[in-house]
Amino acid sequence: MVEDKLSKYKEKRDFEKTPEPFTSQGSSSAKPRFVIQKHDASRLHYDLRLEVDGVLKSWAVPKGPSIDYTQKRLAIPTEDHPLDYIDFEGTIPQGNYGAGTVIVWDTGTYRNLKEKEGQKITMEQAIEEGHVEFYLEGEKLKGAYALIHTGQKGRKFWLFFKMKDLHHETSDILKERPESVLTGRLIEDLE
Ligand code: MN
Repeated sequence: MVEDKLSKYKEKRDFEKTPEPFTSQGSSSAKPRFVIQKHDASRLHYDLRLEVDGVLKSWAVPKGPSIDYTQKRLAIPTEDHPLDYIDFEGTIPQGNYGAGTVIVWDTGTYRNLKEKEGQKITMEQAIEEGHVEFYLEGEKLKGAYALIHTGQKGRKFWLFFKMKDLHHETSDILKERPESVLTGRLIEDLE
């Protein structure tokens, strides 16, 4: 049940005080979507969210994504978010959970790439097993990425990284493209 998955999300927030969405309307698109939000909270970080079975499975990525496959970025699982969060951009007022500003740094669709013994497995199963592979079709991020848990301290620490392919990009996309893909705004513009 989507409602059960969102109980943690709802517990942490008072919707009279935060503009964050709380509904998870079904996806109309055939392809599942993803979003990476840049979130200037007590510490600046990025939030990777993948649409899986009616919610957004979420990981906080302190250093943000990299298009360089030699760079592996720490990713820490956070509570499932409602689907409506996918285009949330704005300010979470002081005193609320995650207080600070949020922009949609990248968004688009993805394809599940994970196979096991030649068979496709579901995203749910891949996440459960701690080894997720997907092809991002975003505005900034394109190509195959992986999310793999490190096995240390249970499932607390994962790594998010670009999978190796023919292209070797070394530029810093976070610096080159800091803006929101929805509005063109910088996070500083909201502060
Ligand atoms: Mn966050």
